[in-house]
Amino acid sequence: MASKHVYFFGGKKTEGKATMKELLGGKGANLAEMSNLGMPVPAGFTITTKACQLYYENNKKWPQGLKEQILANLKRLENVMNAQFGNPKKPLLVSVRSGAAASMPGMMDTILNLGLNETVIAGLTAKTGNARFAWDGYRRFIQMFGDVVMGVPHETFEHILEEKKRAVSAKLDTDLSTDDLKDIVARYKDAYKKHTNENFPDDPWQQLVKSINAVFESWNNDRAITYRKLNDIKGLLGTAVNIQAMVFGNMGETSGTGVCFSRNPSTGENKFYGEYLMNAQGEDVVAGIRTPESIETLAKKNKTAYSKLVGLKNKLEKHYRDMQDMEFTIQDGALYMLQTRSGKRTAAAAVKVAVDMVKERLISKEEALMRLEPEQLNQLLHPNFDPQAEKGATVLARGLPASPGAATGRVVFNAEDAEAWAKRGEKVILTRIETSPEDIGGMNVAEGVLTARGGMTSHAAVVARGMGKCCVAGVGALSIVYREKKCTVGSAVIKEGDYISLNGSSGTVYAGKIKTVEPELSGSFSTLMKWADEIRTLGVRTNADIPRDAEMAVKFGAEGIGLCRTEHMFFEGDRIISVRKMILADNKAGREAALKELLPIQRKDFEGLYRAMKGRPVTIRLIDPPLHEFLPADDESQMEMADVLNITLQRVKEKVSELHEFNPMLGHRGCRLGITYPEIIEMQTRAIMEAAINVKRQGIKIHPEIMVPLVGETGEIKLCKQVIEETIAKVFKEQKIKIPYMVGTMIEVPRAALIADKIAEDAEFFSFGTNDLTQMTCGFSRDDAGRFLKEYIEKGIFEKDPFQVLDQEGVGELVIMGIKRGRSARKNLKVGICGEHGGEPRSIDFCHRVGMNYVSCSPYRVPIARLAAAQAVIRQKGKVKFTLDK
Ligand code: PEP
Ligand code: MG
Repeated sequence: MASKHVYFFGGKKTEGKATMKELLGGKGANLAEMSNLGMPVPAGFTITTKACQLYYENNKKWPQGLKEQILANLKRLENVMNAQFGNPKKPLLVSVRSGAAASMPGMMDTILNLGLNETVIAGLTAKTGNARFAWDGYRRFIQMFGDVVMGVPHETFEHILEEKKRAVSAKLDTDLSTDDLKDIVARYKDAYKKHTNENFPDDPWQQLVKSINAVFESWNNDRAITYRKLNDIKGLLGTAVNIQAMVFGNMGETSGTGVCFSRNPSTGENKFYGEYLMNAQGEDVVAGIRTPESIETLAKKNKTAYSKLVGLKNKLEKHYRDMQDMEFTIQDGALYMLQTRSGKRTAAAAVKVAVDMVKERLISKEEALMRLEPEQLNQLLHPNFDPQAEKGATVLARGLPASPGAATGRVVFNAEDAEAWAKRGEKVILTRIETSPEDIGGMNVAEGVLTARGGMTSHAAVVARGMGKCCVAGVGALSIVYREKKCTVGSAVIKEGDYISLNGSSGTVYAGKIKTVEPELSGSFSTLMKWADEIRTLGVRTNADIPRDAEMAVKFGAEGIGLCRTEHMFFEGDRIISVRKMILADNKAGREAALKELLPIQRKDFEGLYRAMKGRPVTIRLIDPPLHEFLPADDESQMEMADVLNITLQRVKEKVSELHEFNPMLGHRGCRLGITYPEIIEMQTRAIMEAAINVKRQGIKIHPEIMVPLVGETGEIKLCKQVIEETIAKVFKEQKIKIPYMVGTMIEVPRAALIADKIAEDAEFFSFGTNDLTQMTCGFSRDDAGRFLKEYIEKGIFEKDPFQVLDQEGVGELVIMGIKRGRSARKNLKVGICGEHGGEPRSIDFCHRVGMNYVSCSPYRVPIARLAAAQAVIRQKGKVKFTLDK
């Protein structure tokens, strides 16, 4: 017997439910669930995602039994609806919609009014007494079917429609008469034939078969593939196909259609939110062709439908225990639900909704924490406009505050230009009349999106919110001329490349650039972070080299510094001169003289850092990069250096060539420099300790953690530690004071992980430098791997870039081994990570499971790490405990 490919929904006959998302897709499963809840859902049936998968496996043929099951369910639908496919007396019209297990808004295609032909139209007219409605439906059907199923360019139809509107002086589509629509249908059919060499199909079954296949095909169109890639959606079977009896929002002024959210998806405020249009059909609202009305006004137009809708949204939110995004249609006064799903929201809304729902006792704190993707917090941590600067800026126009935040950039008018400009390192604002799924790539690289048309649920608004991009939509005053790459607002002309600024929270468009300021992190955000801190066991530190970054990180909740790359301080201001003097010195005395100049500078730097950290632990790493990195590479800078140091250009060039290495990353760097030039370690240690003593005398207790980089053999850590300890003993003696400190090492050479037990005899703490550890384990150059890694990922050789997401299988094994062996020698060995992976949620989950004490990441990632660390605990609960002895 063939497997079951089709599931019916509608009243008591419903076969699916919400938990069957994987098989029925999100839309299909939720339609079934709403039917089960007794809600007014037009009946229909769902073809499974498995059928779509089999379609592809079968060389694009339907799997066995699918045709029969569709026919049987169609019959069932006809019975339920008391209507018949192709019967002019009681026609059944259906919609065909895609719906994968993961929500992919705007990515897949929809066909409405399927089942229409000229015979059916006559019957429909007689039945409804509304010829205009019947012909408008037919026009829409030809357009959607032509575009979606047969690939007739959308513009071809738009052009015919616009031409007709102009000819009869119609402002809106609704101003067109029945005869106008008949004429448009005739022209549409001509255009269809011209493009496809076929007549428009009259047979509803033919129409249905082609549409189902088109939905299957749309699973693998470029837009869908791009969306899945951008959103990291993997492992799905395919898309389901939902075939549902049509209800009509365009049957006159007592009908309408809309999209609504149970809470505000932009701010999270617990207030019913949405838009609708009367006398319109589904796509009109989201396509942004007419600007829709806000949902409250529906109460005046149709109180009964409005109250019913409010009741249903309350019930759905309680049932799903999450904010819902719903589609509805009112057909001649009667309300129908066409979709419900968990609503996409901005990060600010996600945080507020999650926290509010805990307070409303709908969900637990743990659930609230799991409701956010840690990466989403990025949206909240980024700057807004400086209020003073914004006040003084020139307002160009106002539109809808479609997605919050602030963006400044250069105007571009299409997605390709956006990508090209972005590639050149320019920040761009993608400016479109309205956006469509083709614009995804451009939206992704843009700082912000600006559209002339469309509402809060338009494509631009929904996608921008999902991406965390600032968006101002529906700026009616904006007139765009794509051909000339310019737009006008009143008397202002903005050309491609001109700077503009968008405030996505107020919907304002400004001329020129505007200064930005850091965000305020309070309210729901701090509540959620507090809950994360209560649950997580992993510490979160930051990688910071200067007081400003350290202060920012503390504001974001950093509990210490996990990595201060001291060499970064060497580049600031005049100190590079002393560094170069040290490198150019011919002997120890010369080097020591240069280091003497550096000592007070470094000491001051560390004091600043300690003050910013107010007593939190600070790990300072000794010099790491090869010395040639401090010398200029080009002629002009070398000449300048010779001038400043009062030496010949020849001498500079000689030194540069002397320090040249074929593989500097594997060369004279890290602790190897300290072995050759112990005086550098001496100076740095002295600066670290003297600074700590100075701030201690001002009342700030700091216990410095001195970290030796790139250790791979015990002799290295032993020698370095000896120099460090001798220096510290001298400092204590001179200063007549002792303070606690630790000496530890980075684990970034694979050999160090292998002999971690021996290294731990000297090292009092470990910090995994997974940037270098990945480089040396995989044999991928950190600086060059970008050239081929992209291809590796596309071809599936590596699932993720191992420099971004920790390669648990390979590098991770070394980390596990390092921890296990290290702790076998030193039971309470403190272990952290300071490679880029320390701020990446999946890697943080790993760090938690393998028993690290803390992660350290860049300041802006600190809140992301706090949340990811809490999620790691929640995820681990109830699961088989991960042990180091696996
Ligand atoms: C590392 O290698 O992971 C590390 C943190 O050090 P750096 O990036 O400075 O080499
Ligand atoms: Mg390193």
